[in-house]
Amino acid sequence: MSLIVQKYGGTSVANPDSLKIVAEKIISAKKEGKQVVVVVSAMGSSTDELIALANELSETPSPREMDMLLSAGERITMSLLAMHLNSLGYDSYSLTGSQAGIITTSRHGRAEIEKISGERVKEGLEKGSIVIVAGFQGFNPDTREITTLGRGGSDATAVALAASLGAEKCEIYTDVEGVFSADPRITDKAKLLKEITYDEMLEMASTGARVLMARSVEFGRRYNVPIIVRPTFSDGMGTTVKEQVMEQAIVSGVTHNDKEIKFTLFGVPDQPGIAGSVFGHLSDKGVNVDMIVQNVSKDSKTDISFTAPEEQKDEVMEILLHLTQDLKAEGSDKDENIARVSIIGAGMKSESGVASKMFKTLGSNEINIGMISTSPIRISCVISKNDMQKAIEVLHDEFIID
Ligand code: ADP
Ligand code: ASP
Ligand code: MG
Repeated sequence: MSLIVQKYGGTSVANPDSLKIVAEKIISAKKEGKQVVVVVSAMGSSTDELIALANELSETPSPREMDMLLSAGERITMSLLAMHLNSLGYDSYSLTGSQAGIITTSRHGRAEIEKISGERVKEGLEKGSIVIVAGFQGFNPDTREITTLGRGGSDATAVALAASLGAEKCEIYTDVEGVFSADPRITDKAKLLKEITYDEMLEMASTGARVLMARSVEFGRRYNVPIIVRPTFSDGMGTTVKEQVMEQAIVSGVTHNDKEIKFTLFGVPDQPGIAGSVFGHLSDKGVNVDMIVQNVSKDSKTDISFTAPEEQKDEVMEILLHLTQDLKAEGSDKDENIARVSIIGAGMKSESGVASKMFKTLGSNEINIGMISTSPIRISCVISKNDMQKAIEVLHDEFIID
């Protein structure tokens, strides 16, 4: 019998009416003769609400208690959905990440899935039950603690479960029709993509297209699990993320991220080993450094700038304060008014002039570029936050519509 994993995101399970629609989708897969494992997110924006509650009571809540709190969000959804399926006459039960055997690293708030034993999931499937698993969470056997996987982590739970159970595919149900050539909430010119490669989707997810969590795409690619991003509230076929696509566009998507800050360490002695020391300290503390620029040195001193997620602002500023003293640098600063826009496409590999066309398009629209980074299938520019909307539109017009 074929097995599928379905994941339903926050807006798809926001209230009882939505849960009823979700149950219908699950039942129709069951009626097609499939074994179904369902991964759910917390209802609506309840994860944000729990974070706000924590912040009302503590300025620096302990990461362990945050994970205890946030993992509760998904437990509410899983039990309500199982109850409702039971009331419709379908055998179903819910499992927390830990009960489902999702073993993670120990880092609270950003744990990574290491292994899934999935025994109780398999037992349920053998009995013909619909097994509902709480997304976004796991368990670390060394610390004996519950962990969470980072924002959007239910996607990673779903694809990792699909890989470990040998599912034929993983369906990610969400509040849009699928993966678009740009965020459909930012530009109404965005086009629905029928197919996209894992490599492109990984670049899109890593540069701001939050429709899939990047780590879920990595699992999909590593274990060759087809991922289908589909709408919960309509019958659209969505987007299939897979190894290869029929028609490879030069540029498939334009993404944006306005949730990063640019940090600069000024007047650092220009000596071998300094960059290693700066970025070593940052990575030891779990800071996700993204783009890096080191200026030309003057009087044997240089400036080092990099971007990192805004939620790590306080950690980074504290590290920079220490580094300024240790390295005898002249000081540090941050710029919060930045955004990153990126163009992504596997077809870029065999096409020259894509980067210059991107820079010219931004330039002719009076958009100044602060930092640049590239991969074989992506070009990213850091610009002012005020120019972000315009940049997305002009790049989309230039590369996708044309
Ligand atoms: P869920 O709660 O279902 O996990 P998310 O909010 O995490 O949903 O992801 C869906 C959202 O991703 C959409 O509402 C959309 O605004 C945003 N998004 C950003 N970029 C894209 C894109 N390229 N294609 C589709 N959605 C995108
Ligand atoms: N509830 C978590 C979040 O809001 C995980 C998820 O929805 O994927 O980030
Ligand atoms: Mg999500």
